[in-house]
Amino acid sequence: MRKIERRAFVCLVLAGLLLLGLTFFAGEFLIKGGSWASSAFNRHLYNNDGVLTSGTVLDRDGDVLSSVDEDGNRTYYQNETVRKATLHAVGDLQGNIGTGVLNAFADKLTGYDLVNGAFSAHQGNTMYLTIDARYNYEAYQALNGHAGTVAVYNYKTGEILCMVSAPSYDPLNVPTDILDNDRYKGAYLNRFLSSTFTPGSVFKTVTAAAAIEKLKDYDTRTWTCEGSVKIGDDTIICSGTHGEETFAQALANSCNVAFAEMAVELGADTLASYTDKAGLTNSYSVSGLPTAKGTFNFDGITDDQLGWAGVGQFHDAVNPCALMVYMGAIGNGGSAAVPKLILKTRDNLGLPASLNLTHHTRRLISAKTADVLSELMANNVIATYGTDRFPNMDICAKSGTAEVGSDQRPHAWFAGFLRGDDAPYAFVALVENGGGGASVAGTVAGRVLNVIVNGY
Ligand SMILES: [Zn+2]
Repeated sequence: MRKIERRAFVCLVLAGLLLLGLTFFAGEFLIKGGSWASSAFNRHLYNNDGVLTSGTVLDRDGDVLSSVDEDGNRTYYQNETVRKATLHAVGDLQGNIGTGVLNAFADKLTGYDLVNGAFSAHQGNTMYLTIDARYNYEAYQALNGHAGTVAVYNYKTGEILCMVSAPSYDPLNVPTDILDNDRYKGAYLNRFLSSTFTPGSVFKTVTAAAAIEKLKDYDTRTWTCEGSVKIGDDTIICSGTHGEETFAQALANSCNVAFAEMAVELGADTLASYTDKAGLTNSYSVSGLPTAKGTFNFDGITDDQLGWAGVGQFHDAVNPCALMVYMGAIGNGGSAAVPKLILKTRDNLGLPASLNLTHHTRRLISAKTADVLSELMANNVIATYGTDRFPNMDICAKSGTAEVGSDQRPHAWFAGFLRGDDAPYAFVALVENGGGGASVAGTVAGRVLNVIVNGY
């Protein structure tokens, strides 16, 4: 009798272990099934070179950016410049560009599902991206061989219309010297999503937001710029000698003297909190792709360091995507849609194969301050950059010319947004070592916005 009892007990333990194992497997299967099926070891979906041989990637209006031909080889868009301009969105054949959809969204492209597994995956899914090949082409051409990034997105829907990172290369003809030639330095990185840069004067949009709320008489005061000002042990140098100026004039002149003095008056803690509030230390999820967090150093810094930090220098580093979202939030009354890259995914029956919801940021700036800052940024274009460069656009912008070392040309920035329901677009253009922000990056942004808004 005892023997039987003992055996029954052993059986019970074994049954329990089996149940535990099954539960664990089911859990792992539900969570990781997609990536198991699309693992490079699954030879049904990858060829001998490890290239994903399932799924089609299209742009927002249906141009095929990458598909698989009858021989089972992955192909790209026929135009070489478009291939380069869309490389960081689409991804490469070797898996070096981790944020490209061929690599990051392999499971969504293969059409793997829990019921059918990879059975229907030979044909794969059809993934429409939010970008337009034409806008990317224009942006890539506008960068004219410089490293940098250009992006435009709809701050109401989150759709990224244009996303370019340079240097790039032709995925069908990878340069043999890609690892040695400085021309291709960082070519595997999508600078828009994964990099941070010294912002220079585009950061004055954060210092300005703090000043509007914390310096009660900001709109009746004047500042005086004599070309430089001694703060603490250092001298803050300005780009010009601006004389006596109002707050609006100081922003339109991008006056370092006025903004460094404001930063010191505001204090490091205030500037740090407005930087956080603006989302510049956030990481966003762009259809699941994480963006790099900006980094700043406001802790225990001296007044001269704070002065430089307030004009976007010192240790300030921003991610271009986070900056663009902040621009969208100013244009949209305080918060904005989080950018997304996938418009829709269809299975081989034409049925929706993924959810692509629009998410919104928390409040990055108060509605009232956003309105005030919008007007000031509109004035920047009227007073300094020139409205004739941006026809048919109610444009608000800020330029930046970020010093990155005495032996290098500065980074050129131009960031902002358009107002109005017809064109709710925020944008960022960065030309590394490009020179003057408004002239160089402003021209790049203008060229892309013109194609999007005016069709030429
Ligand atoms: Zn000045």
